[in-house]
Amino acid sequence: MDNPEFWLNILRLGNLLLLLGLGVFLMLTLEKNKQQKITIDKLAKSLEEMDEQAKLIVRTDMELNKAQEELDKKVIGLYALQRLSRTMSTSLEEMQIFKKISPSYLEELGFEKAAGFLWNDKENDFIIQLNIGYLEDEIGKIRTAVNLEKDLYLDLIKEEKAVSSTSIQQYSGLNKESIIHFFKVNSFVISPILPKEGSRGFLFVGKEDTGEVPTEGDEELITVLANQIGQAIENARLFEKSWKTQLELEKKVEERTRELTNVLEEVQKISNRKTDFISSVSHELRTPLTSIKGYAAILIAEKLGALPPAVKERLEKINHHSDELVHMVNDLLDIARIEAGRATMKIELQDLQSIIATVSDLIMIQCKNKNIELVTNIEADMPLIPTDRGQIERVFINLLGNAVKFTPQNGKITINAELKDGVVQVGISDTGIGIPEEAISKLFTEFYRIDNAINQQVKGTGLGLSLVKHIIEAHKGNIWVESTLGKGSTFFFTLPID
Ligand code: ADP
Repeated sequence: MDNPEFWLNILRLGNLLLLLGLGVFLMLTLEKNKQQKITIDKLAKSLEEMDEQAKLIVRTDMELNKAQEELDKKVIGLYALQRLSRTMSTSLEEMQIFKKISPSYLEELGFEKAAGFLWNDKENDFIIQLNIGYLEDEIGKIRTAVNLEKDLYLDLIKEEKAVSSTSIQQYSGLNKESIIHFFKVNSFVISPILPKEGSRGFLFVGKEDTGEVPTEGDEELITVLANQIGQAIENARLFEKSWKTQLELEKKVEERTRELTNVLEEVQKISNRKTDFISSVSHELRTPLTSIKGYAAILIAEKLGALPPAVKERLEKINHHSDELVHMVNDLLDIARIEAGRATMKIELQDLQSIIATVSDLIMIQCKNKNIELVTNIEADMPLIPTDRGQIERVFINLLGNAVKFTPQNGKITINAELKDGVVQVGISDTGIGIPEEAISKLFTEFYRIDNAINQQVKGTGLGLSLVKHIIEAHKGNIWVESTLGKGSTFFFTLPID
């Protein structure tokens, strides 16, 4: 134990072991460090990746925010457009349409300045219709600047597309810088105003803000606004056109009415003069006629001595013709009286059956002479009708007399009477020669007679139907005729029950 060599060896061994341990420890530490480095590298890498992702998230978030802002702007703009559209569509005057665009609307659309231009054909330049945000002399200068480059603006309108300070280079020859300079803005949108008819124009909107540039969304909004203006102008022009046409039409109608009233007054005067004339002539004729008839009657009665048969025969002819003349004069007088409203109808409730029986009796002899059958159909329970009996008998006698006159031997005449919607409708039908279509409208005028074989043989005045019409109309009734040439005619007339 006291051997120093022994202790030295022990010491050497201890050192060796220590070295070995140290080596192992070093090896282990190195290995650990290596592992740690790998881990640190990995960590650094994932940190870097996370950083990238965070940046991406921030970027996306910013973009989303911007998109949201853009969307909010668009929604506000669209609301403003909707309200504007409503107010503009109520405007029926072209000049008023631009006035509806107020600075507040423009602000909602994201702009502070605006100018509206319409092409003026007469002046051959653009005129200002809208001014928001400019002083009078400023807008005047802008107009001059625009008109100096009017061809370029006209080209822009022709393109039918909006341009903005962002997109302008792609389009027309218009210079962005000069627009910015003259309109005193930093960014702008210009959109054509395109009504279907008439002069076109464009809308300029701009903002002084240097930061924001107009987006596609801004261009779209302003395009919609310009389209709305175009539509409103179109409506106003259409309205003005139809309004003018209506006014012209009204003026024409007024003129024509005035002319017609004058003509009517003239006709009325002439008609009154004619009635007065007929009335006085008839009166004048009646007196000598009565004398002629009186003298003829005295002579025929041979009160002044016997007459040779030939003279008596001529005198009877004079008497007969005088009768006809008196008849005619009386008819004329009656027509004149009714026309002038001087004839008073003695309206009383009458039984139509009884009137028809009276006139049938009177006409029967004439019917028998021509072997004409007379048939009467009167609806049962016919009420009494308010009429002037004497006048209505005259109507029947005239119509039946004509029916007999214009119906050949062995014919048939039918009298029908029925109730129809508050009136009594009488129809007198014959199987006679009928009436040509072209004569029907003139039949009830005075002195009108159809030129036919019967009329050449049979005498007549052409006054009967006129008188009949006057009497019926004085009773507030109507008269008309239906006829087939060669087959027969039916004369209808109505008389109100009340
Ligand atoms: P008038 O019988 O004295 O000629 P009216 O005024 O009574 O005058 O009749 C006018 C014309 O209408 C007649 O001339 C005749 O040509 C035509 N007319 C009237 N009634 C008939 C009838 N029932 N059938 C055919 N023609 C008729």
